Amino acid sequence: MYKQNLHTHTKYCDGLDKPEEVVIAACEKGFKSVGFSMHSFLRSCSVPSEKIEAYKNEIAVLRKKYAGTIDVYCGLEREMRDNAEISDFDYVIGALHYFRIEENFVDFDIDSEGVRKVIEQYFNGDGMEYARAYYQDLAQLPRYGNFDIIAHFDLITKHCEREAFFDLSSKEYQRFAVEAAEKLAGKIPYFELNTGAMARGYRTTPYPDIFLIKELKRLGFGAVISTDCHDKRNLDYGYEEAEMLLKKCGFKERFVLTKNGFEGIEI
Ligand SMILES: [Zn+2]
Ligand SMILES: [Zn+2]
Repeated sequence: MYKQNLHTHTKYCDGLDKPEEVVIAACEKGFKSVGFSMHSFLRSCSVPSEKIEAYKNEIAVLRKKYAGTIDVYCGLEREMRDNAEISDFDYVIGALHYFRIEENFVDFDIDSEGVRKVIEQYFNGDGMEYARAYYQDLAQLPRYGNFDIIAHFDLITKHCEREAFFDLSSKEYQRFAVEAAEKLAGKIPYFELNTGAMARGYRTTPYPDIFLIKELKRLGFGAVISTDCHDKRNLDYGYEEAEMLLKKCGFKERFVLTKNGFEGIEI
């Protein structure tokens, strides 16, 4: 099985490991390539450009050092409303973790207690309204840059297995998600089947939900498997399961990054 993870965090943002430790772990797990995706925006602030430069330089050193052993790519997980420069990365993951409400960045990629407070404070306690706002925002991603991959398409469902902030099976909810997918189709080529919340115990299945994977297939998006890794031990967490899920949803291929850009591989 060709394993590659392009969604990898390190000590440069909220990950546990140094980049080289991740590269070594990737080699040990039999990866042919690995990509890093530092957050451009963290704790409601843009990451200073000097720090992003230092990250890029360190990844460039590793790329040379490990050439011939493993291919190392340098990407960025760019927050939608952040303005970090994205032109000189190997790939860019577009993500939405914050609402912009009045002058504030409101983080919703937080624990379930925090999400409950966000819904109370900004959405009059209406979880469905919270979901609607998320998808309406997500659909705007292409206005903010040229992204390759849409991060964790239904991040808003992170805690929904434990606490029903809104009804995932309702037509209303599913319509919001599908409408966003329709607006993004043809503008951002790939979505990720993301196992990160499984590794961290929030979910038992990857993002996105099955109905959405099928809709994304219908709309012509390509699929990339990501582990949204913050701990090198989880670099391939749920990888086989994710590929099986793609097959079950009708995908015949998934995409990996190569020196020639993204290429489909049969699954
Ligand atoms: Zn993310
Ligand atoms: Zn991430």
